[in-house]
Amino acid sequence: MAYYLVIDLGGSFFRVGIGTDNPIIPLERRLVNWMKENTTKRPDRLWIPGQIIDLVHLVLNRESLSKEDITAIGIATPGPIQDGVIIGSPNLGCDYIPIVGPLMEEFNVPILHDNDANTAANGMGLARPDIRDQVTMCISTGIGGGVYQDGGVRRGANYSSGEIGHFQVGWGIRGQEASCGCGALNCWEAHSSGSGIAGKAASFLMEYPSKRSYILSYVSSSPVSVAERSPLSLQELFDGESESLFVPSGDNLIQGWMVYHAYHDGDPLAKRLVGEAIEVNKRGFGTINNAYNPQAIFVYGGVALGQWPITVAPVIEEFGRPGGYCRKYTINPVPKIEKVPFDQIVLLGALANAIEAANRL
Ligand SMILES: [Zn+2]
Repeated sequence: MAYYLVIDLGGSFFRVGIGTDNPIIPLERRLVNWMKENTTKRPDRLWIPGQIIDLVHLVLNRESLSKEDITAIGIATPGPIQDGVIIGSPNLGCDYIPIVGPLMEEFNVPILHDNDANTAANGMGLARPDIRDQVTMCISTGIGGGVYQDGGVRRGANYSSGEIGHFQVGWGIRGQEASCGCGALNCWEAHSSGSGIAGKAASFLMEYPSKRSYILSYVSSSPVSVAERSPLSLQELFDGESESLFVPSGDNLIQGWMVYHAYHDGDPLAKRLVGEAIEVNKRGFGTINNAYNPQAIFVYGGVALGQWPITVAPVIEEFGRPGGYCRKYTINPVPKIEKVPFDQIVLLGALANAIEAANRL
């Protein structure tokens, strides 16, 4: 049995694991062991490969394996990639992290390094070989996608071809457009991701500091029970002091989950923002379907899975049955829209990357 090293580097955590390619074992059981560690943000980025290699040796020890047992390596990282180097990843807070070089030096086996969303699409390709055309997408802090067409991942010049979160499918009157972290206005992500919906809430509440909202009741530093919770204004929250809801590091005081909790409290602002996000989701899914004509769209990520009835379910309801038409949003026949059925889809995708790297030999 061949063993593959799988690596998923994220903004908050990185995971390292060992996978096998035995096709008779169900995909989720082909990850034989994996470990997770914090991705500490430090100015010197050269520590990242070293930290990954240290964890690899721990995982190998746990399985009584040595580095000579590794056949190939699959790596998933956020943001664009050039020649085995992560370039310009806001999630990792830096512009340049060499990944493939240090791993090649340590292990000397074939390596396939790809963007995390493409990697997830490759994982669904391994899980569902019957579906040759699909898009696998994530709605969480941001929105990303990977395009799998004619039985393989379509990567693009910088492994970045499925940047669906930056489809400009939103709207806003001039001067009040939702601004996206990428620098553009009205990207899908700026309306419907966790950070996008939180950013819209913060902009509104800073413009109207006397307006009360349940969203702000979650910002309060002391924990408030459900029974005690009541809507707060920005002036009340900060006792009349003017306070910004944005902080430069990007850890804004308002988080996406607060908007969704406030929606369930019946908060009018949260209901409006969720309603707008649903409309933008319909346009986004419609645009994916126009651009890539997939048989299926597979969805993962905390915002999508945690809030399915008010994020993706309304899209499925509007689009109707697969194979039918929904000309209000898309020209092509409606695809299946389903949840990704694996918790560790990016690690499983890294296994697909590693198997692809080995097969290229
Ligand atoms: Zn954008």
